[in-house]
Amino acid sequence: MPHTVTDMNDKLTIALTKGRILKETLPLFARAGIEPLEDVNASRKLVFATSHDDVQLVILRGTDVPTYVRHGAADMGVVGKDILLEQGAAGLYEPLDLGIARCRLMTAGPVGWQPGAARVRVATKFVNTAREYFARRGVQADLIKLYGAMELAPMMNLADLIVDIVDTGNTLRANGMEPLEEIAAISSRLVVNKAAMRSRHEVITRLVDCLAEAVGEGADAPA
Ligand code: AMP
Repeated sequence: MPHTVTDMNDKLTIALTKGRILKETLPLFARAGIEPLEDVNASRKLVFATSHDDVQLVILRGTDVPTYVRHGAADMGVVGKDILLEQGAAGLYEPLDLGIARCRLMTAGPVGWQPGAARVRVATKFVNTAREYFARRGVQADLIKLYGAMELAPMMNLADLIVDIVDTGNTLRANGMEPLEEIAAISSRLVVNKAAMRSRHEVITRLVDCLAEAVGEGADAPA
């Protein structure tokens, strides 16, 4: 039977973050019994039916996932903790740490950088998180919002420090910088729309349980 708008809306919709997080999400979902019916990487589609009749996936930029879930356009989502910290978690439950795409949100500066007396200029895409972090430490910081290539900012004297995601640290080192302080340990989280958690409680808790089990299996598997 062809899909109608109604049966699309009846399906449980899960918003996934594309890119690096998606690569680690799909094996986890497969272990929980949810697999897209076609190769998501080979398709330009944004919505995918799954092996589970009642579940569909939408694939989005990470920054858009909380918006879809908060408004109920998706019932659940997978998104990095960095984005949840930056955007706030209003309207969302965060029932499960998926333990994937682990990295750290850090301050970083040019190798050998020493704080001076003056205000510090900080380039980042995580302006809310950074503002809060420096305020908590009593450091006067001027935040400069960037959308990419944070490492370039100190080199071009746009900023003294950056706040960014660090995994291996290779990107920093390749640009004459070093990690300084950890702001938060990051991994991807399962988020659930608060109203959906009430209205579709049974199916959502079943899914959360299956995913929790899949996370446990992943943790047991040899590296
Ligand atoms: P690295 O050179 O390994 O420290 O990786 C640094 C860059 O990779 C960062 O600037 C991030 O944009 C990106 N990155 C690393 N890990 C993640 C992650 N788990 N989620 C999103 N972006 C990441």
